[in-house]
Amino acid sequence: MSKYETIIVGGGPAGLSGAIHLAWHDRKVLVIDRKTGPLFFTLEKLYNVPGMPATRGVELQKKLKEQAENLGAAVIRGNVVSAHGQEGEFLLQGEKGEEWLGQTILLATGIARYHPTVDGDYRPCFAYAGKGNMFYCPDCEAPEIRDKDTIVIGSGSADGAAGMAIGLSRYTNKMRVLLTESRDLSQKRAEQLQSRGIQVVEGKIQNLIGKKGILSGLELEDGTQLTADAFFVSSPVRGRTDLAQQLGVEMAKTGNHAQPKSQRGDTNVPGVWIAGDLRPMTQQVSVAMGTGNIAAIMIDQTLRKQEVLSSR
Ligand SMILES: Cc1cc2nc3c(=O)[nH]c(=O)nc-3n(C[C@H](O)[C@H](O)[C@H](O)COP(=O)(O)OP(=O)(O)OC[C@H]3O[C@@H](n4cnc5c(N)ncnc54)[C@H](O)[C@@H]3O)c2cc1C
Repeated sequence: MSKYETIIVGGGPAGLSGAIHLAWHDRKVLVIDRKTGPLFFTLEKLYNVPGMPATRGVELQKKLKEQAENLGAAVIRGNVVSAHGQEGEFLLQGEKGEEWLGQTILLATGIARYHPTVDGDYRPCFAYAGKGNMFYCPDCEAPEIRDKDTIVIGSGSADGAAGMAIGLSRYTNKMRVLLTESRDLSQKRAEQLQSRGIQVVEGKIQNLIGKKGILSGLELEDGTQLTADAFFVSSPVRGRTDLAQQLGVEMAKTGNHAQPKSQRGDTNVPGVWIAGDLRPMTQQVSVAMGTGNIAAIMIDQTLRKQEVLSSR
């Protein structure tokens, strides 16, 4: 079995940016990706990626992969289910029994976002998420709802949805909140919503109304139809930390889920770095690319130091 200097788990913007730096420095690097990252499905334009105005997620994803491969990185499809070992000798295993050996590891596995359920099923949202007017990330997409009639879909905590709506109300004054799960709104949030004229509706979604990626309305279980120009989802996110935890990476509790503690990308486990959305801060493409790059620089420097120390 051949051994890689670095194995990167996750081929989103963080993992591929890390691969670009390492491959550029002639490191033998492997990226293993199961292709579920948001950019694989994001057809809407991204307006906040520096140097790449109004690029589509899918195009960006493709360009990063091409650049990494052209520089010599191997990028393969796979689902890593276990990671063990220590610096110099890590063993990763895939769901089909594949095995990969690496000296160092960069985890760029991203986060899992919860979609609202539609008649009990989250999959109908795939037709709209990242396609046009169904948004998830205020840091990335809030300006897209400027002056638009907007519904915040609360599919987690009621106060979380209210907080999102209040924050987004600086972009539009036509705002409603739909609470589909928890209806347990604190008095403070209820008053804040009321003072801004934000109406609260309660109900489960039965149907999504729309076509070609553009959502025009929500049909609720009781038959009510709510139409709007834009929809913002407020839902819990969970870091994909399973491999980090198997390797012993120290976790911090962020809200109601665990995330690796490291802000910089180096971890308490020698030979293991993290990057992108997996890190305990906001989720953005440019942050993912930057943190992938920083982690890769640290990895390359670590490998170089080891080479200097072991050379005669
Ligand atoms: C709908 C939507 C719209 C967005 N719009 C914007 C925007 O306009 N601007 C912006 O800056 N950001 C936007 N974002 C956020 C942006 O997409 C993320 O911040 C970015 O993709 C994070 O990059 P990443 O590489 O850390 O993780 P990801 O892109 O999530 O990539 C992680 C990859 O790791 C893979 N993976 C995970 N676990 C394993 C495993 N065990 N084995 C193998 N592979 C694994 C996944 O399949 C995935 O492909 C948006 C997000 C969403 C959901």
